[in-house]
Amino acid sequence: MHQGMRRKLVDEIRKKGITDEKVLEAIGSVPRHLFMDNSFIQYAYVDKAFPIAVGQTISQPYTVAFQSQSLELKKFDKVLEVGTGSGYQAAVLCRMGASVYTIERQKILFDFARNLLPSLGFRPHFFYGDGYLGLPTYGPFDKIIVTAGATYIPEPLKEQLKIGGIMVIPVGKVHLQIMKIITRISSTEYTEEDKGGFVFVPLLSGLSD
Ligand code: SAH
Repeated sequence: MHQGMRRKLVDEIRKKGITDEKVLEAIGSVPRHLFMDNSFIQYAYVDKAFPIAVGQTISQPYTVAFQSQSLELKKFDKVLEVGTGSGYQAAVLCRMGASVYTIERQKILFDFARNLLPSLGFRPHFFYGDGYLGLPTYGPFDKIIVTAGATYIPEPLKEQLKIGGIMVIPVGKVHLQIMKIITRISSTEYTEEDKGGFVFVPLLSGLSD
């Protein structure tokens, strides 16, 4: 039953403009219902964001697909994700063959994802910490994806991007962010492209506890 629902979701996302077949394949195979609160499971394959623990959300599948496509992933790319949340986006990136480093500031979510993903065969590296700082000892990264709304682009994340690397980050105010695609073209130069409006929960500094 869930597989059929996922196929419909993939069709819907394709119609909304996602063309990367590797992204569509991953959305079609990762069981999103297992990442959601029991009370929302029946909506798991509706193209919407839903609440998870501690006031956070699992991103809308279209948004997950859009950010994943924007990363222009190559197999074995080393990817930093800021905001593990449910772990769904991390699972999609793993399914696409990336080597994923994901960081979360809410202990409950960190624990949830760290237990769930390996049981489904997805093995990102999990970190409990402040994503504003990135992971200096594990970088640099081919790609960086931020899945919470930032008010500015954190400098440590720019520094942890490889030359030629891409960062996808929603930047703006609380109720609307612009998806920015940042490409590092030299040690000191970056290009920036705007890709439309999205709404994320806020990127917050420090740890939850
Ligand atoms: N990628 C997630 C989306 C989760 S919502 C998914 O697929 O479900 C964004 C997440 O970012 C929340 O869980 C929130 O706690 C986390 N977050 C916010 N600020 C953060 C920070 N500075 N460092 C790490 N995680 C952060």
